[in-house]
Amino acid sequence: MALRLWARGFSSAPAAAAASSLLRSDGYIGGRWVGAATTFPVLEPASGAELRRVADCGPAECRQAVSAAASAFGSWKEAPAKERSALLRKWHDLMIQNKDDLANIITAENGKPLQEALREVLYSAGFVEWFSEEARHIYGDVISSPMRDRRILVLKQPVGVAGIITPWNFPSAMITRKVGAALAAGCTVVVKPAEDTPLSALALAELADQAGIPAGVYNVVPCSREKTPSVGEVLCTDPLVAKISFTGSTATGKILLRQAASTVKRVSMELGGNAPFIVFDSADIDRAVAGALASKYRNSGQTCVCTNRFLVQKGVHDAFVKRFAEAIQRELRVGSGFQEDTTQGPLINEKAVEKVERHVSDAVSKGARIVTGGKRHSFGKNFFEPTLLSEVTTDMLCTQEETFGPLAPVLKFDTEEEAVAIANSTNVGLAGYFYSQDPAQIWRVAERLEVGMVGINEGLLSSVECPFGGVKQSGLGREGSKYGIDEYLEIKYVCYGSL
Ligand code: NAD
Repeated sequence: MALRLWARGFSSAPAAAAASSLLRSDGYIGGRWVGAATTFPVLEPASGAELRRVADCGPAECRQAVSAAASAFGSWKEAPAKERSALLRKWHDLMIQNKDDLANIITAENGKPLQEALREVLYSAGFVEWFSEEARHIYGDVISSPMRDRRILVLKQPVGVAGIITPWNFPSAMITRKVGAALAAGCTVVVKPAEDTPLSALALAELADQAGIPAGVYNVVPCSREKTPSVGEVLCTDPLVAKISFTGSTATGKILLRQAASTVKRVSMELGGNAPFIVFDSADIDRAVAGALASKYRNSGQTCVCTNRFLVQKGVHDAFVKRFAEAIQRELRVGSGFQEDTTQGPLINEKAVEKVERHVSDAVSKGARIVTGGKRHSFGKNFFEPTLLSEVTTDMLCTQEETFGPLAPVLKFDTEEEAVAIANSTNVGLAGYFYSQDPAQIWRVAERLEVGMVGINEGLLSSVECPFGGVKQSGLGREGSKYGIDEYLEIKYVCYGSL
């Protein structure tokens, strides 16, 4: 029945039927599909229509999942790394075989354009592939002993059961970036996906099952917004859970940190950002405009590394604003993610649209100028026009809070020092971008920006090979790359004496 609403996204009836095998409504606990007393609706952001009802798991189901994960941990951690690696590889292969169906599910529940959803599936599968390889490269150490009769060893061991809480903006990749690393390390997981996008997490469970990942290793407890705090609390306080890994807002991250403190769990936090994008006088303006477009408007501005503030030096300011506006009007198309030429899908829900609206009206009331866009888009309730504001100042909300929508505010600056000071004048520090062709300036600014990731003459920087994460209140720890697996490993020092 769900397929009726989004069948327009499929090219043929058999394709739609194939997708239905990945569409699940129940939680996935201990290798079984488990219902709950009530269900909650998953809505299509583009139309507001109900796609499907999903089991509303509560604390009881979450405890059941934790217990399943704890039981499975014993044998999963003992499995040779080569075996864990092969199972992850199989899971990856199945994701690739089912990439079109997975992409359709993402577009339906998240709204992003189908081509972007397909890129997310490849990115998401890439983490599973990467960590299938990393599983076999976990090394300990032998350290020179200060005593003749002792030998000193370092072992790396999985931390245990990991509670994984993920956001809706990358319904698949934010899961595999964590779960790939966890499973490779020998941990088992309980995933609580975002209430807006549980279908991708459940589709991944179906494929994990088909791949032969043992029961209890990957568990999913979908739940509604109402049940979320109580389910989160179980994950953060249950003594059987050793680690919490979270991606989402800084406000939620702080709640989880407080809760996790009661049992001193390991934590990884990927939180919000307020990314600056600085264009210096020496920049190649056309490249900067292309980078700005990609960095700002991907996923309709709903990524944590999306630029939130454009800082443009006075010598190139007017040319940059003019060409950026032309590029927005020329290249961006608002519509349903299932339409072929769409580049800008809906925002996730009405609250998100209201936030963009609030940021625009606050900025305009304080003197900003709307260069293009500026209001809701006629395509539908959750759509907003790609918007460019100039004459923006640092007292405006859009420079202080993450807008998480298609709004590009431009501030003018005079000197490099001023730009770096504005860029750093925030309590978060995830990504930062700048465009310059002056090598000395490039080194200076890359070192001075208080962020975890820097794009120099680049507007997109995420990849499975590179360490993703932030400083200040943007989080703790790194994901992906050779560092990501460390978040799921303990270091054990072994002193072998009396030799
Ligand atoms: P959110 O914090 O509202 O929700 C994220 C997840 O936390 C969801 O699964 C939600 O159900 C859950 N949650 C909310 N309240 C909870 C509670 N009390 N207990 C347990 N779980 C709870 O964030 P969002 O609006 O879904 O996502 C947007 C935010 O995520 C933005 O700030 C963005 O920057 C950030 N984000 C960060 C990264 C990163 O890697 N740093 C990546 C993507 C998104």
